[in-house]
Amino acid sequence: MCTKEKLVEYYSWLRKYGYNDSHSGNASFRDQNTIWVTPSGACADTLQAKDLVACSMEGLTGENASFDARLHVEVYKQNPSARALLHSHGPHSIAVTMNGKDFAPEDFEGKLYFPKVPVLNIPFAEYSEKSPDLIARILREHCITVTRGHGVYACGKSLDLAYKWTCSLEHSAKISCLGRQINSNNHVSSTISKSSFTAPH
Ligand SMILES: [Zn+2]
Repeated sequence: MCTKEKLVEYYSWLRKYGYNDSHSGNASFRDQNTIWVTPSGACADTLQAKDLVACSMEGLTGENASFDARLHVEVYKQNPSARALLHSHGPHSIAVTMNGKDFAPEDFEGKLYFPKVPVLNIPFAEYSEKSPDLIARILREHCITVTRGHGVYACGKSLDLAYKWTCSLEHSAKISCLGRQINSNNHVSSTISKSSFTAPH
């Protein structure tokens, strides 16, 4: 069951294990018609349960709620089974989707969980206006999405599931990044090695 203490704990793990920096990302869970959201500019190292801000399914966002509070409410409105939403800035998840294309994991587990991870291109200047509806629409059908150059939004029936999707995507993205790097290094070495054979003496 989601509690305010659990939300704080998961939010701190996002920071502790490298999915966020000290003050990035945000998180929420739904308890009937109340949505508890991290406050604006929350520090994951010092956040406490009493700091969480109550928002309502009707769209009323509490004072000092996260910049993304409206987005959180919209996700719960459009996906009635969602009970938790985590937003994070996993470096590999962001890096591997910088091309703006949907991401298809190459490893076994990633393929199993996410045959396709939708990537949204939302201009930064229009982010606060457009992101709530665009992200909520995607999270009706998918458990996770990435906004290009920004970060990851994962929802689930529990905090644990939203956390699992976040961690799994970052792991798959890391494997893809490493694979591309190794392939690129091999290509460079083979080009150098070929040119050394053909270079005139
Ligand atoms: Zn963010």
